Amino acid sequence: MRKVNKNFNAPPKALQRGFEEKKNSLLEQKSEHQFEGRIYNNATKQELKELYYSKCAYCESLMSDDTFTVEHYRPKKGSYSYYWLGYEWSNLLPVCDKCNNAKGDWFPVNVPSRVLPGSGKKCRIKTPLLLSNGDIDIDAMKANHPYLLSEEPYLLHPEIDEPKEFLLINYNGELVSRIEKDVNEYHYERAKQTIRIANLNREILIWKRRKIIEGFEILLKKQTVRFLEEIANQKDLSSSMRLAFFVVFEIIENQFNEEQEYTLTGWWIWENIKGILFNAVCKDNQEIEKMLDYALDLYIQSKC
Ligand SMILES: [Zn+2]
Repeated sequence: MRKVNKNFNAPPKALQRGFEEKKNSLLEQKSEHQFEGRIYNNATKQELKELYYSKCAYCESLMSDDTFTVEHYRPKKGSYSYYWLGYEWSNLLPVCDKCNNAKGDWFPVNVPSRVLPGSGKKCRIKTPLLLSNGDIDIDAMKANHPYLLSEEPYLLHPEIDEPKEFLLINYNGELVSRIEKDVNEYHYERAKQTIRIANLNREILIWKRRKIIEGFEILLKKQTVRFLEEIANQKDLSSSMRLAFFVVFEIIENQFNEEQEYTLTGWWIWENIKGILFNAVCKDNQEIEKMLDYALDLYIQSKC
């Protein structure tokens, strides 16, 4: 998962028109409303595709037209239906069929579904917020509005939350919570439940993330061996280091580019390159470790 900037105030025109057209019947029919696919298709789908570089908002896999679905972050149907958000731009995400099937209408929240009336306690949101004239409050439909956030959803929203603050990848390629339970239980649960809701540790995803880590390890090992073999003939050590290692660092850094798949893996490896890759390549050989540290310093300086 990766943070994406979407302007919640500028929905695709077709979506906005569709909502205006359907608003009254939506509020009247509630969860019985028949949502029309044509409203999500074309312009809405295209805009989501561009914003996310055709990648799934949850697992970051590239999607074909066959696997691309327009997902409702808060479900429009089911036991807890947020029907009034069915055509809401901030509630729509491009999601692959695998994540979509795993999630279904599941949307757990941290607050109870029922509380005693008048108790003033927070409760799951079940109705839209209405203005004094009876019209629907458009602002309170946005996913980052305090009205909706008050129910404390567990599922991370890639356009509101920063996934890097909640999730990281372990050496085996599994997604895990970045936050310890005793530090912040709600945040810990958000990470854990997001992984569970979209099934983000399914076998194929773990394998693909592991392959990325392994690919970097193999490349760094290869370049290290080559550099050491030629070290006796090196006249200018810094230039030779640049030639041998900058290409590796660039490839790793590029893994975090927004159009790449699994950028969270790339980010995590880059942030922890010493602990993950250097450790694996050096195998406690401090001389090699020092050399790689030096090459990395040279690379970082060259970027300043
Ligand atoms: Zn997915």
